[in-house]
Amino acid sequence: MRKLDTRTIVVASHNAGKIREIRDLIGPLGFEARSAADLNFIEPDETGTTFEENAAIKALASAKAAGLPALSDDSGIVIDALGGAPGVYTANWAEKADGSRDFAMAMEKVEHALGEKGATAPADRTARFVSVLCLAWPDGHTEMFRGEIEGTVVWPPRGSQGFGYDPIFQPEGHAVTFGEMSAEEKHGWKPGEAQALSHRARAFKRFVETCLEA
Ligand code: IMP
Repeated sequence: MRKLDTRTIVVASHNAGKIREIRDLIGPLGFEARSAADLNFIEPDETGTTFEENAAIKALASAKAAGLPALSDDSGIVIDALGGAPGVYTANWAEKADGSRDFAMAMEKVEHALGEKGATAPADRTARFVSVLCLAWPDGHTEMFRGEIEGTVVWPPRGSQGFGYDPIFQPEGHAVTFGEMSAEEKHGWKPGEAQALSHRARAFKRFVETCLEA
């Protein structure tokens, strides 16, 4: 396992919601985080078929372009009744013909697909959010960290915090959706704490334990 020995890293993302969450998580650790979007890096095509492959594509592209270590996140929602869809194609379900993204439309698509399967009872609507973080160095070395959180797809969407599919995901053991949680509640983690809640915070905790702590 390679340790991180710089204090500046690139957040290899163009997704404002993810960049904000990764900055929230990394800020207290004393890092300066520049994003691929701020640096005007071109977004590479996500041609992989796993979260790991796509995370590596993004992190390596930014690390090589910046000459600095880069941290990417490839994530999505995996819905059991839909055979794991949308999975690695979670962002694609939100894409409109003009290339913009509409998550209200994407959540409607999920609900429509669940309706077609007759999945109306909570027990038939189990799902998990998955986040794979990849830390890549300019020399091509990578380290990978996976985090998952189990939950249920609810309808109608609830809450306006967070981003993406947060309003329809209710994590196990909670009565509110990610969309109804503050950023602090959704992460459920601070440096040094043993527990984390969101998929991203769980993966991030592994990254900290592996690449930052002695
Ligand atoms: P990616 O950029 O290919 O990794 O796209 C991941 C997609 O999953 C994004 O479009 C997000 O909307 C969705 N997603 C990932 N993490 C979260 C989350 O924490 N909350 C809500 N949606 C998420």
